[in-house]
Amino acid sequence: MADLVVRVGKRSEQGVRPNNEDCYFVDPERQLFLVADGMGGQDLGEQASSLAAQIIPEAVQRCLEAQEQPGEAVQRALAEANQAIVHAGRHQPIGRRMGTTAVVAVQKDKQVYVAGIGDSRAYLIRGDRVEQLTVDHSVAKALELSGTLTAEEARHSPWQHVLYKFLGCAEMTDGAEVRPFTPEAGDRLLLASDGLTGVVGEEEIREAARRHPEPQALVDYLVQAALKAGSKDNVTCVVVAFDAE
Ligand code: CA
Repeated sequence: MADLVVRVGKRSEQGVRPNNEDCYFVDPERQLFLVADGMGGQDLGEQASSLAAQIIPEAVQRCLEAQEQPGEAVQRALAEANQAIVHAGRHQPIGRRMGTTAVVAVQKDKQVYVAGIGDSRAYLIRGDRVEQLTVDHSVAKALELSGTLTAEEARHSPWQHVLYKFLGCAEMTDGAEVRPFTPEAGDRLLLASDGLTGVVGEEEIREAARRHPEPQALVDYLVQAALKAGSKDNVTCVVVAFDAE
């Protein structure tokens, strides 16, 4: 199979919030992509997400150069970012510490490795299918997976935005699950913060991807759709397009 051409669209909007705690990182040459959504008082959320966006790509790159398996490289990078964020927040009082989500994708030897911590999501759009590649680490999702809540109840639960796993967790026992896939011509990989996925559903993502083959046009449409739908949050989206030419 010939190499696929990779093009990227990206955008982060503050929306109605007083600051933007989201950030993204894209490196089309090394094929490394990330979205992070920070939390914490004052500017701590911004600090946490920008630490993730700085540390994770560097650590992935370093591990790959040391011939580590890509899945392990991603896990190690997330663990290093976790440690750095715990360390950076250590002088903050309990209840004011910083944290961030991170969803990351890296291509190596024609496989794309995807991992997420927190509730920023990765979706693979392939033809008519939209598949979420990450699991939300929210309390509501955990209650849904254990059968305590139905999917519908989980969607409206007050625990929907409460995370039990994120970067900046002092006690992160198990790391990130890495989901590899082999990209095919026409695939779109979407990384987004919950400011987008909380208000734009899979059906709308599928329809938008069909109408907007250009990755930047797709990103612009989805971010606008989230803001129009009344997202009260920062909205961040990266789309990686894999095409035959
Ligand atoms: Ca958010």
